[in-house]
Amino acid sequence: MNYKIAVIPGDGIGPEVIRETIKVLKKIEEKTEHTFQFTEVLAGGCAIDATGKCLPEKTVEVCKESDAVLLGAVGGWKWDTLPGDQRPERALLGLRKELGLFANLRPALLFDDLADACPLKKEIVSGGLDLLVVRELTGGIYFGEKGTWETDMGLAAYDVEQYSEEEVRRIAKVAFDMAKKRKNKVTSVDKANVLESSRLWRRVVEEEAKKYPEVFLEHLYVDNAAMQIIRDPKQFDVILTGNIFGDILSDEASQITGSIGMLPSASLGAGNFGMYEPVHGSAPDLAGKDLANPFATILSAAMMLRYTLGLWEEGKEIEKGVEKVLEEGYRTPDIASSGTKEIGTKEAGDRVAAALD
Ligand code: NAD
Repeated sequence: MNYKIAVIPGDGIGPEVIRETIKVLKKIEEKTEHTFQFTEVLAGGCAIDATGKCLPEKTVEVCKESDAVLLGAVGGWKWDTLPGDQRPERALLGLRKELGLFANLRPALLFDDLADACPLKKEIVSGGLDLLVVRELTGGIYFGEKGTWETDMGLAAYDVEQYSEEEVRRIAKVAFDMAKKRKNKVTSVDKANVLESSRLWRRVVEEEAKKYPEVFLEHLYVDNAAMQIIRDPKQFDVILTGNIFGDILSDEASQITGSIGMLPSASLGAGNFGMYEPVHGSAPDLAGKDLANPFATILSAAMMLRYTLGLWEEGKEIEKGVEKVLEEGYRTPDIASSGTKEIGTKEAGDRVAAALD
C-alpha cells in the first residue's frame, strides 16, 4: 500500500534527524510491498525566513491531505528575540489545532542496554521498562478560562480546569484501544478526592471501560501516581490522564529512559491520523555537527507505522533495529559511556537501516 507522509524537517538538528529517519523508512520500503510518498514542507524558523509565517497555509494543506506527519523540531537562537506570538514554536500549537490533535502519546521505553543511563536502582528496572502515557492535549486548565484582577491583597489570578464528557470519552477510548494492543491495563490518573472535574473524569472513564471488558482499569490520585512511577514503574502499562497532570507525569516517566535523544512521541486526532516527533527540541548547539541522536525520531517513525498506518510488525522491526545498534555498543555522544563506541548522527542512521537487513 502507498502512504502519504508530510515531512517537516524544521530547524536546528531537525533536518539531520529527519534525514536519518527517512533512510530507515526507505529500508522498510525495500523490504516490504509498502511505499511512502514523502512531501517535504516548511514550519518553524525556516518557514519564517522563507515566507514570513511560522506555519504557512501550504504546510497545513499538505498535512491535512496526508496519512501522517513526521516532524523534526522547530526553533533556534536566530528567532529567539521575536515576540511570543511570532516565534517558530507557535507552529506546533497551530499544527495541533489545525489537525485536531487531542491525544498525546509518550512511551517510556528503557532498552536493557541503556539501563546504566536510568537514574533508578537496577533492581527496580531490571528486564527493561515499557509504559505509555496517554495525555489529553487540547482541554483542561491550559485551555480553560483565565484572568487576572486587582484585590486588597495585590493582583490575583485564576485558571479554570474544565473537561466535558465528550473530551474525556475520546481520550479514554484512545487509552483503552492502546492497552488492547499492549498489556490490557489502564491506570487513570486524577485528583477525584478534591476536584469536581476529576470526579467527572473518573465517571466517564468507568463508563467507557465497560466497552473494554478485557482491559483492567484502576484509578490513582496524581500525587500517588507521581510516587509510584519512581517506586515501581513496572506496574504500569497505559497511564491515562488530563493535560496538566500528563504534562508533568510524562516528563517524569521519560526520565527513566535516560536521554532526551531517545524519546519519541505521537499526537493523535480523530481516526488514525497522527503527528509524530521526537520529544527534544532543535538543539541549536549541535546543529550541523553530526552529533545529534536520531533514535528519538526514528522511534517516532516506528510509532507512526504502528499507530497510524497499522504496520505493527514493521514498527517493531525498526525498534529492534535501534536495539540491535545499542546492543552492539554503538552510541551517539549523548548516551555514550566508557566501553561504548561513539558514532555520529549519520552513522547511527546507517546502522539502524543496516540492522533491518
Ligand atoms: P532541546 O531539546 O533542543 O535541547 C536540550 C538539551 O538536549 C541540549 O543540551 C541539546 O544539545 C540536547 N539534545 C536535544 N536533542 C538532542 C538529540 N537528539 N541528541 C543529543 N542531544 C540532544 O531544548 P532547548 O535547548 O530548550 O530548546 C532549543 C530550541 O528548540 C528552542 O528554540 C526551543 O523553543 C525549541 N524546542 C522545540 C521543540 C519542538 O520542536 N517540538 C521542543 C522543545 C524545544
